[in-house]
Amino acid sequence: MKFADLHLHTQFSDGTFTPEELVLHAQKAGLACIALTDHDTVEGCARAAAACAAVKMEFIPGSELTAEQADIEVHVLGYFLDTGNKTLLDRIAQFQTVRQQRIHEMVAALNKAGVPLRVEAVFALANCKSPGRPHVARALVKEKLIGSLDEAFERFLKKGRPAWVPKTKMSALESVELIHQAGGLAVMAHPGLNRSDEIIPALVDAGLDGIECFHTKHSTVMSERYLVIAEAHHLLVTGGSDCHGFSKNKPLIGTVKLPYAHVENLKAARQGRHRVSK
Ligand code: AMP
Ligand code: FE
Ligand code: FE
Ligand code: ZN
Repeated sequence: MKFADLHLHTQFSDGTFTPEELVLHAQKAGLACIALTDHDTVEGCARAAAACAAVKMEFIPGSELTAEQADIEVHVLGYFLDTGNKTLLDRIAQFQTVRQQRIHEMVAALNKAGVPLRVEAVFALANCKSPGRPHVARALVKEKLIGSLDEAFERFLKKGRPAWVPKTKMSALESVELIHQAGGLAVMAHPGLNRSDEIIPALVDAGLDGIECFHTKHSTVMSERYLVIAEAHHLLVTGGSDCHGFSKNKPLIGTVKLPYAHVENLKAARQGRHRVSK
């Protein structure tokens, strides 16, 4: 059996692996195919593609776009993106600027709450265009201002806490259109984390192609529920570990193994779309 992991992060967003390290771990996990889905960027795709080519592993260029639907944050995965697509690159660059600005705002809020974190300490760790809350959490731990990443989120960074700063997001409809015009397929990420299945029909109306049924944080019952929803809405099925690096001393990559038949379905859907649009 061949398996894929279609939800992975690197240092180009809030993961800790370089693209080359990620591919090495993918190889160790015995994967036949991986997709890189860094938050709001495709910057790491060229290096990941080269590293995959060197070991004859299949690579799908992707991204995880931060969007919203009815005031709920939704992550929309784009697969088979043209990583040189100017409309995509221009639009995500705007959200990368928002992310960088937000780091300053989070640090200012921490300072106001009496935590003396310096913004330079965060950017020293977040050497990328698409920084996020995990970088702030890691800087807090590194500077010994807090005991653990979990504590950083619990005390300061999660919604409603003193250093939580909302970010401007694109609408889910726009994210689907942006992915489509860049030649990609749009997939709703980890629906079980949103706990708001009522938004799914609107996403389907917007042109959503698939739904991530298998995810590290989905229980078996949840995965089964989303498989039923996928069938009801004629959606493609995807899955991935959402690896951001090591988790409990082991790389998370490969802990969710998507049977390769689903990758074949994605490729067939993509080709179908290209034929229709010609
Ligand atoms: P951001 O995009 O900056 O809002 O950060 C969201 C990212 O933070 C997610 O993609 C996760 O990688 C991470 N994250 C969110 N909540 C937690 C948490 N409670 N503990 C650890 N990491 C988290
Ligand atoms: Fe993340
Ligand atoms: Fe996500
Ligand atoms: Zn993710």
